[in-house]
Amino acid sequence: MNTKITGHTKLTGLLGSPVSHSISPMMHNDSFNILGLDYVYLCFDVDTTTLKTAVDGMKAMGVRGFNCTMPDKNLMCELADKLSPAAKMIGAVNTVVNDDGILIGHNTDGIGYMKSVKAAGHDIIGKNMTLLGAGGAATAICVQAALDGVSSIDIFSRKGKFFDRAKNLIDTINKNTDCKVSLYELDDKTMLNKSIENSHILTNATSVGMAPNIDNCIITDESVLRPDLIVSDVIYNPRETKLLTMARAHGCKTFNGLYMLLYQGAEAFKIWTGKEMPVEQIKEKHFS
Ligand code: NAP
Repeated sequence: MNTKITGHTKLTGLLGSPVSHSISPMMHNDSFNILGLDYVYLCFDVDTTTLKTAVDGMKAMGVRGFNCTMPDKNLMCELADKLSPAAKMIGAVNTVVNDDGILIGHNTDGIGYMKSVKAAGHDIIGKNMTLLGAGGAATAICVQAALDGVSSIDIFSRKGKFFDRAKNLIDTINKNTDCKVSLYELDDKTMLNKSIENSHILTNATSVGMAPNIDNCIITDESVLRPDLIVSDVIYNPRETKLLTMARAHGCKTFNGLYMLLYQGAEAFKIWTGKEMPVEQIKEKHFS
């Protein structure tokens, strides 16, 4: 925490609900201190009923920027003055920068996830991916994975709002990248098993398994979990979801959402400060 707050200190922070458990304040405030930057990062419990008022206040007070987390990412898309191309395509904002009174919405989750794959020691470029979910995190991962050169992505989602939105996104990705993206209903277990069999990596980008519902898991047929499959979960609370525990028991290589959190934060840090986050120091202190 910056202990020398002055009249020049720039405010950044996190809007969402709940937020009190977040690691982001430690990650950003330690980075500001290490680099000697006069910034501070705080958490604000703001849900979709209070988001517009909070964002208007942030803008009026001239804060430098903020992150958005569940349940505010989609609504923030409508409240930003401008959107980055990635945020526009994904339909969700996780980082806002205030450039002279103009709030620009970005999405750094996809970059964060792809960097986390590398940090976990894997290379999925040119390979197939099975992706569970079609919400904000899943969409961000799908867009970035396609842009980075993943060969094919099979998305499995329940029918509903996100499923319908994914249809348009898939058309855009298939037209503009070499990646082949397909969408299936999560109930289609035959197709799900076939997809996992042909995939190098299985990624859970739903909130299923997140605390407090830690006994929940989307994968029920454990026979799909083979030792050469990478299984990753965007969830980091708990550190090991039921899916990862099952996968580890079957010899799969697994990793959780902690590095995604770190690298999406590092991208946000750069957008606000123009500086690289000292990720190795932060990793050692908070992520090991
Ligand atoms: P979101 O936009 O609300 O999407 C949630 C997704 O989960 C939707 O596809 C939803 O499907 C699906 N889902 C929820 N309950 C389900 C169930 N019982 N069965 C099947 N699907 C279900 O939320 P989000 O922002 O993408 O966040 C998703 C998860 O990612 C959260 O756990 C969040 O903490 C995590 N996350 C982690 C990071 C990181 O840095 N590690 C970053 C972002 C998000 P429906 O449309 O059918 O409800």
